[in-house]
Amino acid sequence: MSNPCLKCPTQQSCCRELHGLKVNEDEFSRLFAGKSDHLTVVKKGKLYELSSHGKGPCPNWDGHCQAYGTRPMDCDLYPYTIGNVFEGKGEVYATYHSRTECPLSDELLGPREKAEALIYNFLKATYGETAKVTVRYDEGAARVYHLARRAMAKAQRVLTGDGSQ
Ligand code: SF4
Ligand code: SF4
Repeated sequence: MSNPCLKCPTQQSCCRELHGLKVNEDEFSRLFAGKSDHLTVVKKGKLYELSSHGKGPCPNWDGHCQAYGTRPMDCDLYPYTIGNVFEGKGEVYATYHSRTECPLSDELLGPREKAEALIYNFLKATYGETAKVTVRYDEGAARVYHLARRAMAKAQRVLTGDGSQ
């Protein structure tokens, strides 16, 4: 099977429920303008943050992504995702992390260098070639997330009576 998402235990919840997908003006007008009735759209500087109302899917979802070949960078990046973006005069600083809900993240997370290159190019396209762009992995948040996952796994082992480590 070449596409691991076809065996997604959540039936591809990352597309069926959006939580803060970050897109730029070009992506928004190409893929979401005119079909954002079921979305909360928050504009932050040059980026839009999109979230589903309730349990609604992405407007480009129809059993599969209708825009897969030209999907937003933040979709391509997943299960990494952009965290905070700070815009300054002629510069932009962005963090990214991997504390996402993807159940196959251990299998799907590629090298950080590739993720950083995607984000870097996206921010250059968004803020202009002359903008100074800095991208950093959010180590602190990721560590908290992984500790929480370990604690949850341990609690589950206790509940199911499997105390082995
Ligand atoms: S990226 Fe993760 S959550 Fe999204 S469809 Fe693939 S396996 Fe499922
Ligand atoms: S644009 Fe496509 S890949 Fe991105 S959330 Fe929507 S359906 Fe999923």
